[in-house]
Amino acid sequence: MEVKAGSPAATSGAHSVSAAETEKWMEAAMHMAKDALENLEVPVGCLMIYNNEIVGKGRNEVNQTKNATRHAEMVAIDQVLDWCHRSGESPSEVFEHTVLYVTVEPCIMCAAALRLMKIPLVVYGCQNERFGGCGSVLNIASADLPNTGKPFQCIPGYRAEEAVEMLKTFYKQENPNAPKSKVRKKECQKF
Ligand SMILES: [Zn+2]
Repeated sequence: MEVKAGSPAATSGAHSVSAAETEKWMEAAMHMAKDALENLEVPVGCLMIYNNEIVGKGRNEVNQTKNATRHAEMVAIDQVLDWCHRSGESPSEVFEHTVLYVTVEPCIMCAAALRLMKIPLVVYGCQNERFGGCGSVLNIASADLPNTGKPFQCIPGYRAEEAVEMLKTFYKQENPNAPKSKVRKKECQKF
């Protein structure tokens, strides 16, 4: 759970984040995750930051919407598009200079979406061993995938233990959409 931001490892080409930025935005992302937990959603929260401004934020809305694709990152992508529309900015320009802060490693679906939107840098908390698209299951983030957007840099591990604890809490409580006993126990152990 070391803070890597601010070290040379945090620099990725033209995009880098300071320790102060990481602390500030991950704190907000953790709040989003807590909000998800309080609303019986898998506790994942995220923010999209462009020019030091929040242009999108999201937390899981899968149970609420009965839509398995409404992960925090997908919700936030839609918000960035709305922000661009409202402020007359070009989405491609904005996404290419936006940093995503998210409490859990993006899943395979979200990692592919982040590539397609050409987000350059993702700062995240804990690993996602079941679905992770930034190395845990597949490495969508850095794989050589022709015609699938651009690879992006990842800075993992910020407040990872806290993010894991929230996931464990979620899987311990009643999840109306989860199959009984076996699967939940397994998820809890893996997270
Ligand atoms: Zn996802």
